[in-house]
Amino acid sequence: MYPGQHTRTVLIRWNERPGGVPRYSINLAKFVRPLHLQVKIDGQWMLFMQWIEELPCQKKEFVGELGYIRQQQWWASNGQRFRLMDLPKELRLCVYEQAMGTDIYPQLSPQGLVSLGKGYEYPWNYRRKDEVQGPNLALLRVSKQVSEEATKTAWEGSRMSFAQQNSMAFVIPGLKNLVPRFSVLTHISLCFQTSEYIQFFEVQVQPWSGIPGYFNHNTSARAVLSKTNLPNLKELGIKFASPENPSNSPWFRSSSFFPNPLWGWYTSDTDAPVVCHKVTVDWIMAYAKASVEHIPLVYVEGYIKTSLKEKWNATFKAQRNGTYSDISSDLLAIQSLTLEDMPPRCKCTTQCERHSLGPWEFDFGD
Ligand SMILES: [Zn+2]
Repeated sequence: MYPGQHTRTVLIRWNERPGGVPRYSINLAKFVRPLHLQVKIDGQWMLFMQWIEELPCQKKEFVGELGYIRQQQWWASNGQRFRLMDLPKELRLCVYEQAMGTDIYPQLSPQGLVSLGKGYEYPWNYRRKDEVQGPNLALLRVSKQVSEEATKTAWEGSRMSFAQQNSMAFVIPGLKNLVPRFSVLTHISLCFQTSEYIQFFEVQVQPWSGIPGYFNHNTSARAVLSKTNLPNLKELGIKFASPENPSNSPWFRSSSFFPNPLWGWYTSDTDAPVVCHKVTVDWIMAYAKASVEHIPLVYVEGYIKTSLKEKWNATFKAQRNGTYSDISSDLLAIQSLTLEDMPPRCKCTTQCERHSLGPWEFDFGD
């Protein structure tokens, strides 16, 4: 409540009619309203909301960066020490989890050694808020015991995240060398660009389905995510990146790679039609299904429309509960689309790409 003060006990009561006679009725009180909650401070009852707002911990000088400085000053002035090793192990592990982060982007050195990596920089630095900071490695230099505990937490408690299929296929053998020292590779998160997903899940759409050798079976999902390759995999997250920048689109400037008169308009970014992210993501998931459905928990996240997220999360959940969903006719329909049908045009209320400067927010509700 105050800097340095960890707990404080106050008397609380429920008063349905502030100002009137204090009372509590189980029927009326079912609608929780903050106005009904009161606390007793210095012998006087007052509104809980009002009391919270008056507490010094809400003041600007006690929160954010300034708050940390104040706390450091307070620890420096009181002559006491905060010793990490005095904490019970389960609390120390919580500290390590915070310091290591939810996502580890492992890297492999040319010598074949895996490291915890440096986090994730969004390609072309387009959306800063989507970047992931690297783990706090200073913790590994504290002592041998802290280093061992924090390393174990990072490998076993964080998700192993991958931004590119090639690096994933390359790094996984190095991670497997950590077993049995660490129970690693139980939870994986993919955060590829949509074009990477098309290649990884071998999505049979034009123009790629017509190019011999475009899909590499050794680095594709069927091989990398198979039960043989990753027998301990329990959870898989499939994260979609923001479609805001048209250059993130899988069909961007395809005309220069795949010359075709139909794709002529793609030579100019501003004339290009808006590619529908919603349709693209649905196609990717349809092809992903076969190579991920053996994993006990699969979930989708990131820039994906709420309706699609619910659809695919429900499909995987139903399959876990024994109801198989046959989508072979959907796959045939996608495969039979011609080059003229590409790219999928956007008919969403808020268009899926931003083709001019100005405000743009991803519309999850479309
Ligand atoms: Zn769209």
